[in-house]
Amino acid sequence: MLKLQRTELEILRTRASLEKLQLQAEGLMMKLEELKKRREVAVKRAEEVKRDIQSHKELIEECGRKAKVAEERLSLVKRAEEYKALLREKAKHEDCAIKLASSLRSLEEELKRLEGEKEDKKLAKQMEEIQEELADIRYSQSRLKNRLEELEEDLKNLMDVTEDKILQEYENLKRKHGLPLILPVDSLGACTSCGTKLPSALYSRLVGGDVVVCPSCGRFVYYEEPLS
Ligand SMILES: [Zn+2]
Repeated sequence: MLKLQRTELEILRTRASLEKLQLQAEGLMMKLEELKKRREVAVKRAEEVKRDIQSHKELIEECGRKAKVAEERLSLVKRAEEYKALLREKAKHEDCAIKLASSLRSLEEELKRLEGEKEDKKLAKQMEEIQEELADIRYSQSRLKNRLEELEEDLKNLMDVTEDKILQEYENLKRKHGLPLILPVDSLGACTSCGTKLPSALYSRLVGGDVVVCPSCGRFVYYEEPLS
């Protein structure tokens, strides 16, 4: 029974570890996905900014051309009002070019930042770290899966060689108490499941090598030679 319980408990522990690893792996994969997206967004934005820069440059040229046209016409006009109007037009186009040049500068700065190696390298490094962590987890997972298969095989073999009567009793007790149902007594002679100190008569039987039933919680208790 103790062997059965040990194997079953280890199976439960292994399964729990596997589940924990799976959750960790899923979390990491989500993080990886997010970083990938962030990189894609940066690339997309860089393309947008490049297009914006191009159209800014074209507009600045156009404004400059229009300002120049207005300037050339200044020498041709005779009337003062026309002259003033042309001056205003020239100033308007120049102003437009100045404003565009200023937003062009910020666009160029943004592009530099987006294409900057620093930012991208940081993301790439983070992704690499996550991938390494994932590889470690995958390795542990495959090891635990093998172990679980071994344990399940062991349990099957154990059940095959255990008498039906004992198996039945074990299953009954398991239904009643849950695992663990067979526990060592602690150094003070108390049941390690419910903490009840065992009567000295029972305790001497334990030390003598018997397995006894805890009068308080009904589980099996045995004595373990203290490790020296
Ligand atoms: Zn107990």
